[in-house]
Amino acid sequence: MTGKVYLVGAGPGAPDLLTLRAARLLEAADVVFYDALAHPDTVALARAATHVCVGKRHGRISPSQGAINRALVRAARRCRTVVRLKGGDPMLFGRAHEEIQALDRAGIAWEVVPGVTAALAASAELGISLTRRGVSRSVTFVTPAVGDGEPRADWPSAVLAADTAAIYMGAGQADRIAAALLARGLSHDTPVVLMEEASLPGRNAGWGTLASLPRLAARWGHAPAIILIGRVLEEALEEARRDHGRRPAAAASPLVPV
Ligand code: SAH
Repeated sequence: MTGKVYLVGAGPGAPDLLTLRAARLLEAADVVFYDALAHPDTVALARAATHVCVGKRHGRISPSQGAINRALVRAARRCRTVVRLKGGDPMLFGRAHEEIQALDRAGIAWEVVPGVTAALAASAELGISLTRRGVSRSVTFVTPAVGDGEPRADWPSAVLAADTAAIYMGAGQADRIAAALLARGLSHDTPVVLMEEASLPGRNAGWGTLASLPRLAARWGHAPAIILIGRVLEEALEEARRDHGRRPAAAASPLVPV
């Protein structure tokens, strides 16, 4: 028997931001391989499955990507339903391509189930649309993070080319991000929001400008954090301040200026 591997998006953290399809697959799973960011309640939906943590968190020894790929192939040769649960959406900054390639090479069937990506969870919590008529007609997802041996990526060009940018895996290098964008001519007063743990009870968010981004990141950004940059945040932030108390974000924990 050869099973099938489902690359499933777990969403940004809150277990109820999972799709129904994801929940059903977890319930049917024989084995689930999950990342460190997956919420325990989400993993627990896989009641009948063997749970395998393949989490990648700073400072913890975790299996290499190659070992994860091999484990998925081995599991699919033993079990019918293998779930590979990934934070957010599996196809954004989740190394899904490498897993898909390994499965293809081994002749194993696979399917992807999308999830709510961190940038969109943050947008929802802020009550700020990342697009806005006349202000923002493009959104870019970027990361300045590069793996060992990878060529450097020209992520600042992508940020400059779009009206709104969502920067993943960047809070730990906010100084470099701000310096790189300022050097490329992005205005120091471009509005910035940094949100960590979007959708989770530990959610924190602060707003400022490109110039104050390093201070924002020093205050927050120790948990997984997303950085949003763009003029579209300006009016929205004004409104957020005016409407304080009525917006979901303000109700959960205030958006703090830095
Ligand atoms: N596939 C994931 C991203 C994985 S990369 C997705 O679609 O969301 C991991 C990065 O995602 C983190 O460093 C952080 O930048 C961001 N991230 C993931 N969950 C988050 C959350 N709940 N709040 C804020 N940022 C988050």
